[in-house]
Amino acid sequence: MIRVNEHFSALQPSYLFSDISKRVAAFQAAHPEREIIRLGIGDVTQPLPAACVKAFRAAVDEMGRAETFRGYPPYEGLDFLREKIAEHDFGARGIRIGADEIFISDGAKSDTANIQELFAPNIRVAVPDPVYPVYVDSQVMAGRGGAPQDGRYAELVYLESTKENGFVPAPPNESVDLIYLCFPNNPTGAVATKAELRAWVHYAHERKALILFDAAYEAFIRDPELPRSIYEIPGATEVAIECRSFSKTAGFTGTRCAYAVIPHTCMAYNSSGSQEALNPLWYRRQSTKFNGVSYPVQRAAEAVYTPEGQSQVRRINDYYLRNAELIRREMTALGFSVSGGEHSPYLWVDVKMDSWSFFDLLLTRAGVVCTPGSGFGRCGQGFVRISSFNDFENTERAMQRVRQALEKK
Ligand code: PLP
Repeated sequence: MIRVNEHFSALQPSYLFSDISKRVAAFQAAHPEREIIRLGIGDVTQPLPAACVKAFRAAVDEMGRAETFRGYPPYEGLDFLREKIAEHDFGARGIRIGADEIFISDGAKSDTANIQELFAPNIRVAVPDPVYPVYVDSQVMAGRGGAPQDGRYAELVYLESTKENGFVPAPPNESVDLIYLCFPNNPTGAVATKAELRAWVHYAHERKALILFDAAYEAFIRDPELPRSIYEIPGATEVAIECRSFSKTAGFTGTRCAYAVIPHTCMAYNSSGSQEALNPLWYRRQSTKFNGVSYPVQRAAEAVYTPEGQSQVRRINDYYLRNAELIRREMTALGFSVSGGEHSPYLWVDVKMDSWSFFDLLLTRAGVVCTPGSGFGRCGQGFVRISSFNDFENTERAMQRVRQALEKK
């Protein structure tokens, strides 16, 4: 008899984005004359950098000629891209990561969801709250969540990100085996300092734990003192895997390219207590379940590292950061306490009321869509996430409407 994976039935339905769509659609149906501005989504709006488009086209042409046609790419990614990543994203910042420690993939979503396959079923997992839901749901599907309980899972350890800790949780007193950290954070926009990451690396060494560091938004960091990579912390190559993505950095959400770094020194323990390197295990996993990223996409990603690519990417990210600065200024002027938006495309606003009530208020009075913070976890209640992924003109208009609506309140 074919049986289902019953861990799926433990999954709590994620209504966040479908609820948002339903409420927006109902409002639009009742008020067809009102124009709605969406500051809720985490998807980019600026087109691919010109350097990437040029390289993408040239590679497609190569695929169309018999002399330059290529079949399956290597599972781990093409060397030209892995080498550029090692040199520019790490070497240039004084971090020694070899090209053979980099695995190209189709997204940080798949990497952060799949990496848990490398670990024993009974490990103890810590996740942030609020959280990018992929970390939690992929663990629940694998049976590590335990019973659902008041919007949480009994077996997971929640790292509460609150105003009091600046949305950067400290290591817990108890022992956990796998820890998800994400900085700059989705949804809070918080960025960890080197001292804060040092505490985590120290914890991981002490407790023989592993950190999964999601740096999907590192390109938005502007302060040179803030770490862009966990490998800026001494000892991290032994206890951390880092996931990065071209999605937000270079507008690749619809093109799909990302990478995971698994240093050769990064280990986990087997049942007899000896260490096993994770790099070959991940290679084994990827070569079994993944057939690589297409050649033109890898060429397009490589173009990010050309001088033109670098300045175009910087311009795109600065564009979103300008939106973020505007939102931050306006919301602060309206009396809200706002975090994020300085080294991150997301702003986390303390709205001092139920997240959904504020969402409805903004939608009905201003025609502006944000994301209720409660949808990202218990600690998100009372907050909303505002995204800077939009046109500057739309952002300006949205903020003008929010000001008018809230000043009238
Ligand atoms: N990690 C975080 C924290 C994200 O917010 C997102 C996308 O929103 C991703 C990973 C997914 O990135 P990708 O497009 O590379 O799958």
